[in-house]
Amino acid sequence: MNGLATAGGGADVMARYRGALMGTFGTPQRVLVRGDGCEVWDADGNRYLDLLAGIAVNALGHAHPALVGAVTAQMSTLGHVSNFFATGPQVALAERLLSLLGAPDGSRVFLCNSGTEAVEAAFKMARRTGRPGVVAAEGAFHGRSMGALALTHKQAYRAPFEPLPGGVVHVPFGDADALRAAVDGSTAAVVLEPVQGEGGVVTPPPGYLAEARETCTAAGALLVLDEVQTGVGRTGAWFAFQHPHVGGTADGGTVVPDVVTVAKGLGGGFPVGAVIGLGERSGTLLGPGDHGSTFGGNPVACAAALATLHVVERDGLVEHARKLGAAWRADLAASHPLVTGVGGEGLLLGLRLARPVAPALAAAALEAGFVVNAVAPATIRLAPPLVLTQEQADSFTAALPALCEAALRTSDGGDA
Ligand code: PLP
Repeated sequence: MNGLATAGGGADVMARYRGALMGTFGTPQRVLVRGDGCEVWDADGNRYLDLLAGIAVNALGHAHPALVGAVTAQMSTLGHVSNFFATGPQVALAERLLSLLGAPDGSRVFLCNSGTEAVEAAFKMARRTGRPGVVAAEGAFHGRSMGALALTHKQAYRAPFEPLPGGVVHVPFGDADALRAAVDGSTAAVVLEPVQGEGGVVTPPPGYLAEARETCTAAGALLVLDEVQTGVGRTGAWFAFQHPHVGGTADGGTVVPDVVTVAKGLGGGFPVGAVIGLGERSGTLLGPGDHGSTFGGNPVACAAALATLHVVERDGLVEHARKLGAAWRADLAASHPLVTGVGGEGLLLGLRLARPVAPALAAAALEAGFVVNAVAPATIRLAPPLVLTQEQADSFTAALPALCEAALRTSDGGDA
């Protein structure tokens, strides 16, 4: 039986899932078989508006012809080579990332396959400074491999796997004084998400990143910005730190990080990640033999990323995410008294709920044909494809009051 067979419907695949897959992700919500644009279909023929995009990944939606074409053409030409050889797509992607970041001379890219790997590479860059310390933020999520996990804050993820790589301390996110107090001459790097994603869709106060930059510069530490979730237009800027209210500086400019990590939306659904070292110092931290990856820089992944970036630019999707997100958040905020506010930027939004009923709301939404995510007990995350239309956004806004009522009923008040 091949992976597309759904003769027995979702129940059959779910039963086989339980018998074949490790239980790391709990019980999947549905078995999905097909996607088109912002919609997906399950094995029982039900259609959903995808407002999560594989957790901020499918920037162009599902089955976008440009992405399908680029991957197919590259796979038909040259699917994989080892890193003993170079390919055009690999070089073009690195150049494109440097250009999007306005990277100064000496900047360099390491290509990998996921956000976690990008963070691992950044962690190794930090170690290569020769200093032992790394400062990260409370609420941070940077991945689950041992190094990335050391930077991730959530105790439930960390505790079973200790000891983790040492030297990492966490300080309250958005508190520039706490950050300054934690950084000294032994600090190799400060690692921050410009907008926390898994931590509940949280934008730090204006000026925070600029102060973090100053703190790092004064101490000679690297400022690492993890744009895995926020990069590639997701927040209405190519990178979230480029928003004036996120990464703006007092002189009207924007912070220049030392290291940026990217993944998720970069490949539009094809696994690819990158760490970019900005400037001569960061660009040379990892030298010959310091790091590697069999698949990193794979030409098909690079072709997927180039196609994604091309369409995002050609179709004005960064601007679209910014404008649609701004209008949508206002509508969402006014939709029902359960929604007390909307956090986030662009098309990475967090609906703040007056009660911890986000899981019940997400379940009600799924029943009603909307894929959303309960990222925290009282926060619903929306991270739809960047090609979401106003009409599609409106359809969720219109459904939201009834979903809120259903969530409140299901959870019996939700005060538990
Ligand atoms: N960094 C951030 C900010 C993330 O949001 C994530 C995933 O959610 C990661 C790193 C890990 O990325 P991946 O799941 O692609 O390994």
